[in-house]
Amino acid sequence: MSETRSEISQLGEFGLIDHISRDFSLKNTSSIKGIGDDAAVLSAGQDDFLLLSTDMLVEGIHFDLAYMPLHHLGYKAVAVNVSDIAAMNGKAEQITVSLALTNRFSVEAVDALYKGIHAACESYGVDLIGGDTTASPSGLVISISVTGRVQKDKVVYRSGAKPNDIICVTGDLGGAFMGLQILEREKQVYLADPNMQPALDSFEYIVGRQLKPEARTDVVSDLAEAGVQPTSMIDISDGLASELFHIGKNSNVGVRIFEDKIPIDQITFNTAVEFNLDPITCALNGGEDYELLFTISQADLEKIKNHPDIHMIGYVHDKANQHLMISKQGSIVPLQAQGWNHFAS
Ligand code: ADP
Ligand code: MG
Repeated sequence: MSETRSEISQLGEFGLIDHISRDFSLKNTSSIKGIGDDAAVLSAGQDDFLLLSTDMLVEGIHFDLAYMPLHHLGYKAVAVNVSDIAAMNGKAEQITVSLALTNRFSVEAVDALYKGIHAACESYGVDLIGGDTTASPSGLVISISVTGRVQKDKVVYRSGAKPNDIICVTGDLGGAFMGLQILEREKQVYLADPNMQPALDSFEYIVGRQLKPEARTDVVSDLAEAGVQPTSMIDISDGLASELFHIGKNSNVGVRIFEDKIPIDQITFNTAVEFNLDPITCALNGGEDYELLFTISQADLEKIKNHPDIHMIGYVHDKANQHLMISKQGSIVPLQAQGWNHFAS
């Protein structure tokens, strides 16, 4: 009997998902879109689609309780799920929350976690409708599933970008990643000398970007109000470059973005420089900003060009998978999708 062993790290997260999904096809006519977008799309009545997405957060991989307060963790776990529904141009409606807990957690700790979950349910207008609770041998695991709803003619996939569309991004990028660097640094300082108080004051903005991200449901509403239907959309969980590759691959197009158009907050910029990191690399490859990346047809540009939180960073072209950045000096740099690889050793 011959046994082969292939390392998951060789495939990476996206390779693994492709590998898992290759033998599965959709059998039910109610399954409109399965694996491969921010949420699955299911038929639900005459006018609407039901959206369904799930995300898992694992202690030691996605968060460190040394610096992540439990109520922020609860809020974030909901927000990242709502963000996937927003990325389909939908409105989140229900969540289920599944927990694996070690005996390290007290009722008070669970209360703190649910305080955050409750706050997020209030702020996004979502109902907690169930879940599952079990023991964990080590570490906290939170898995949340979310349902949402979108009008059939309003759903936005990763696959709809067309040549000459304008590429837009909300908010600013790289902040959550630099916030994480600050939290990691202060943790090391604390471990070396527990009498040291963390110096977080001047980094409040980026630490907040890491600890309490918001789903951009406001932008979904603004676009609808402006009468703009994005041609494609994705939320930025892994990093701008990685998400541009997803849109490029699914839409069979290429992208060109301009370095000087990528929105970076001054604090993110200064902190990157302090850490000897290139701020643009942080914006391109730092994840967890949970901003929206979308494309619009040129005809719609006028309707949103003055929106204070939407930035036009480039355009779509027809050369599939040719993804380029025009640097500040005018040179053309191929984009690299690094994303996060939790499986790398
Ligand atoms: P996102 O970053 O938007 O949460 P992911 O990159 O996690 O999306 O997932 C991409 C697609 O792959 C989604 O359609 C998701 O449902 C699907 N997917 C992820 N993991 C699995 C899995 N273990 N089995 C089946 N489908 C999966
Ligand atoms: Mg997503």
